[in-house]
Amino acid sequence: MSTLLDLTPDAARAELTGWLARRGDPPYRLSQLLPRLWARPVRRWADASDLPVGLREALEAEWPLPALALETRQVSRDGTEKMLWRLPDGEAIESVLIPEGSRRTLCISSQAGCPLRCTFCATGTLGLKRNLEAWEIAAQVRELLLAPQPAKPTNVVFMGMGEPLLNWPAVSTALTLLNHPEFLGIGARHITVSTVGILPSLAQLAKRPEQFRLAISLHAPTSAARLALMPIEKRYRLPDVLEALGAFRRRVTFEYVLIAGVNDREEDLVELAKIAKAAGAMVNLLPLHPGGAPGLVPAAPRRLGSFAAGLRRRGVEAVARRSRGLDIAAACGQLRAMRGDVGGEVAAETHGDVDQAARVGGLTHGADA
Ligand code: SAH
Repeated sequence: MSTLLDLTPDAARAELTGWLARRGDPPYRLSQLLPRLWARPVRRWADASDLPVGLREALEAEWPLPALALETRQVSRDGTEKMLWRLPDGEAIESVLIPEGSRRTLCISSQAGCPLRCTFCATGTLGLKRNLEAWEIAAQVRELLLAPQPAKPTNVVFMGMGEPLLNWPAVSTALTLLNHPEFLGIGARHITVSTVGILPSLAQLAKRPEQFRLAISLHAPTSAARLALMPIEKRYRLPDVLEALGAFRRRVTFEYVLIAGVNDREEDLVELAKIAKAAGAMVNLLPLHPGGAPGLVPAAPRRLGSFAAGLRRRGVEAVARRSRGLDIAAACGQLRAMRGDVGGEVAAETHGDVDQAARVGGLTHGADA
């Protein structure tokens, strides 16, 4: 499908300028049309009431606006919201909105499913269904602006389903759609790309002039230990990923899920501190959430604190994160849709904590019950 929503501002401007000229419409219409794509979006052109009816009809015929259909929305006790979106071809993805003080962070998906098969991650068990188009990635924000109570996220993180750097062309365009002041206008420093470190795309991301933030999913401090958790280590090895970080003139974050007896030992701490210092990285320590390999056990909460303290003692900035949205399986790595046609598995059966009552239309804070 060709849609205006897949175009960067320059390309959309060029396309619409030509189209308006061919129709004999005045060029100033462009400045009325463009904001309707992203900045002040409309669900359909008929809703752009500042435009003449004839023009709206022509736009609808020539450039219909695609949308994500909100299939379920669940609200966690802690205020975290999980949205399941149906894509036009029937695939499904999830996004998670995490309110925290004045911040509203939206965690978005870049692929339906994921090909990486990290042992600890629920999404990995799905395999890859397909890459998302640029508009499908950015529309996870657009749809929030079109909601009954519109609310723009302050921050966006690519930590939903999928590996963003295995879908680079679409993710690269989506970054522009999210960031450009004439489009969604979310500051580059408020957009984080999280990746295992796909080297060719990492080099492309480093070349972007905007200061997008980068998070590397590390999870083990040595190549051998990482290989046991993340099959991608065979293809893009940790030492090479660390070296590639040299091309980023900004602070990166290491994501590190603490797994009892696997990567939370004292020697892991020492080695992690060493590479984090060398890379000038800060470390986010995450509790392991359920959903991945059954044999993996979360490190004790106390270990999260002592591990973070140990890193700090060694001169590394480290934060132990809390889980959010656990009761609705909305936490990192837990994203998998509840429908058989998506995951082949029903999350409610896996975790016993999903309440599907919070449906669109009859929305309640069902998961709070
Ligand atoms: N593919 C990208 C982005 C999606 S995963 C990446 O790997 O970075 C987003 C984050 O959630 C990653 O840091 C990932 O390693 C982490 N994650 C995956 N499974 C998890 C689990 N079971 N518990 C906690 N974090 C997990």
